[in-house]
Amino acid sequence: MSKKIIIIGGGIAGLAAGSYAAMNGFSPKIYEMHSLPGGVCTGWQRDGFWFDGCIHWLIGTGNDAGTFKQIWDELGALKNKKIINHDIFKTIINNKGQEFVVYTNADRFRDYMLTLAPEDHEAIDSFYYDTLEIADMELPIKPQKMWNIRDYLQFISQNKSIFKSMGRLSKISIKEYAKSFTNPLLKEMIPKIFPLPDFPAVAAFMTLGHLHYKNAGWPEGGAYSFSKSIVTHYLEMGGKIQYNLKVVKILVKKKKAIGILLDNGEKVYADYIISAADGYSTIFQMLEGKYLDEKIKKHYDETPLFTPLIMASFGVNQGLSFFDHSTDFEFSKPKKVGSNYINSINIKHYNFDPTMAPDGKAVVIVGFETSYKFWEEMYEKKEEYEYEKEKIHNDLLKILDEIIPNFSQNVNVSDIATPMTWVRYTGNWKGSFEGWLINTKTLRKKIPKKLPKLKNFYMIGQWTTIGGGLPPAAKDGRDIVQYICKKEKLRFHTNF
Ligand SMILES: Cc1cc2nc3c(=O)[nH]c(=O)nc-3n(C[C@H](O)[C@H](O)[C@H](O)COP(=O)(O)OP(=O)(O)OC[C@H]3O[C@@H](n4cnc5c(N)ncnc54)[C@H](O)[C@@H]3O)c2cc1C
Repeated sequence: MSKKIIIIGGGIAGLAAGSYAAMNGFSPKIYEMHSLPGGVCTGWQRDGFWFDGCIHWLIGTGNDAGTFKQIWDELGALKNKKIINHDIFKTIINNKGQEFVVYTNADRFRDYMLTLAPEDHEAIDSFYYDTLEIADMELPIKPQKMWNIRDYLQFISQNKSIFKSMGRLSKISIKEYAKSFTNPLLKEMIPKIFPLPDFPAVAAFMTLGHLHYKNAGWPEGGAYSFSKSIVTHYLEMGGKIQYNLKVVKILVKKKKAIGILLDNGEKVYADYIISAADGYSTIFQMLEGKYLDEKIKKHYDETPLFTPLIMASFGVNQGLSFFDHSTDFEFSKPKKVGSNYINSINIKHYNFDPTMAPDGKAVVIVGFETSYKFWEEMYEKKEEYEYEKEKIHNDLLKILDEIIPNFSQNVNVSDIATPMTWVRYTGNWKGSFEGWLINTKTLRKKIPKKLPKLKNFYMIGQWTTIGGGLPPAAKDGRDIVQYICKKEKLRFHTNF
């Protein structure tokens, strides 16, 4: 009889683990507390408009072979999907009204920057070569914990020319990198491409490089369609998923995870338990904080999280082809939106994908960062919470009317997601949509996927990697099954 694997959570990590477990002859069953698959990789339909809650760029969508491309193929994630590659990554309009366009093609971006700042030709060239070089890094598909000497040697020989640049760019933020420009506009705008505090230059160039090589596109249909493709493939392979049941406890006997307790009181037993759910609730609630060491405790006490978001989605009766698909607008002075004061706003539209809105109409999504504590308290008082959302909605319409003529008159349907929306649907701790913040200090942190003194139990997904993201979540699911196969003395294989 095949060994049973229980997977807690049907986000991308959980779906991937389930898929690889099914490919390797195990009996996987995913328990997902929500009524849908995908976790934070989701979207929702309102009156014919798709409000996408996730994907901006997806690494691994290119035609060339590579680790993530292989994983998406194995999972059936991109099957029959058109990939849309943008010419422009984003446009930034600063508080003086100056515009800066970030082209995805590195040659075009270099030429554009040279016209803006010919005096910075050396710094622009370095920026160009760093963009091309970093994305060339070949990440082996085998889990690093299972590498042998030959794997290490191969990795070193394939990437040795890149290591020096990787080292240099891992130590500095993109803001520090931008000091190499003398032109005030470039100095100001380069860090704003990735407006996260202390964002590592290496992560910035990795993204820009994949965009240049057309390996970081948008899969037609967006996030929910992407998750749906993976779950469909998983079910076709005989995998099982149970929705609408929350795992409240992980059952342990003699320091070995043996099953789960569900919120309907049912107990289910298995040979292996994998949690692909939020890390805090796994360690401190489902396992009652009993399997910890000082290092893990310190990590949960000290490591910063991504600041949660307000995401406002609008279905509108106008095409909006006059501005780019993603634009950051800075205000000359802070604007009040509900109880938040904001200095800038990101506006996205999805006209590049005809499946996202009915003909001639458009989806517009705006987002900005907010305080979790504020929303946690507000959520206790239902009426005030709804009122605050209403205020945000109305204030945003006023702002959007200033940017897009007659916007509010054309709104058909709208939706406001707060940090509590993420908590309610996915349990993600403090509404952090991508887990642990990536910066130059956290970049190299390794988060264990096993807990001390607990056998047959593993953790995967965005709470076990720094910076989150769809590709690492899926690779985690692959790695863990490969690891279990090794433990069971089975040869790991995929069906692709
Ligand atoms: C706005 C936004 C934009 C993003 N943009 C990108 C992007 O452009 N590119 C990119 O690569 N990544 C992006 N990401 C990040 C990426 O989506 C995530 O890092 C990734 O999807 C995380 O997957 P996961 O499976 O680890 O976690 P999750 O998606 O959080 O999945 C966890 C699952 O576990 C379930 N669960 C939790 N507790 C329990 C329980 N007790 N019982 C049962 N089920 C439970 C939850 O309901 C959820 O379905 C974005 C995320 C957001 C929110």
